[in-house]
Amino acid sequence: MSTRSLQRIIRSIPASDGAGVKLRRSLGQSPFQRVDPFLMLDEMSSDNPDDYMAGFPSHPHRGFETVTYLLEGHMLHQDHLGNKGDLKSGGVQWMTAGRGIIHSEMPQQENGRLHGFQLWINLPAVEKMKPAAYRDIQPDEIPHVTLATGGTAKLIAGALEIEGKVAHGPMQGLSTDPLFIDVRLSAGSLFSLPVPATHSAFLYPYQGELAVGDSTAKLPLLAHEAGVLSRGERIEARAGSDGAGFLLLAARPLGEAVVQHGPFVMNTREEIEQAIRDYENGELV
Ligand code: MN
Repeated sequence: MSTRSLQRIIRSIPASDGAGVKLRRSLGQSPFQRVDPFLMLDEMSSDNPDDYMAGFPSHPHRGFETVTYLLEGHMLHQDHLGNKGDLKSGGVQWMTAGRGIIHSEMPQQENGRLHGFQLWINLPAVEKMKPAAYRDIQPDEIPHVTLATGGTAKLIAGALEIEGKVAHGPMQGLSTDPLFIDVRLSAGSLFSLPVPATHSAFLYPYQGELAVGDSTAKLPLLAHEAGVLSRGERIEARAGSDGAGFLLLAARPLGEAVVQHGPFVMNTREEIEQAIRDYENGELV
């Protein structure tokens, strides 16, 4: 079975979004730093409420999905469909913007600390104008599995086969077939998982470091770096001496043109101009 190697590293850079939320952006810092169909990955991590309390007041999206996953802290969500959600530590908000959603995401104070991620996943051209949808996934809906080689994984999307048993995450049946897991490894332990061979994939350690692939000679993948993997049937990574916590993202690439203007991601310039007009005329949603 072919093991995936580390092909490219996207180092995160400090960025600010919403009303001034300080974050680290790896994917999405430029059009060249995407991993089709993944458009963006932001990590928010701060002990200082001034870095995040301003939040993400009312703003639009069209053409893709936004996935928010919180490790610590909580965040209130409201949208034009009337959904209200309180995203808690360990919970996920999976929002399909489709033709349009207008929402706000406001961090709440919880012992001062906020640590979480926002991931943008593209939609295929034929689904970009479908109706918006929203799902709040509670922490207890996310399977917590023990890996055969040690360590644990929280399975947010897709399926995992471990010793002949298949576990399913709460998000299934999307056309990009995403696998989204949060993996914790103890010091020096090995992670090894078969994945669909032609899916795009990357790893994002948020704690500790990883030696990726079957070569031990390579430089480790450090915390807050996205490690883009080659194609292959298996992902292998070994935790460094501090153990590791990392996100694993894999999905079927779309191979379609991407034209992005802020919160709108479409396939052509004309569709972006339409999205801007629709938003200005109150017809986005
Ligand atoms: Mn948003």
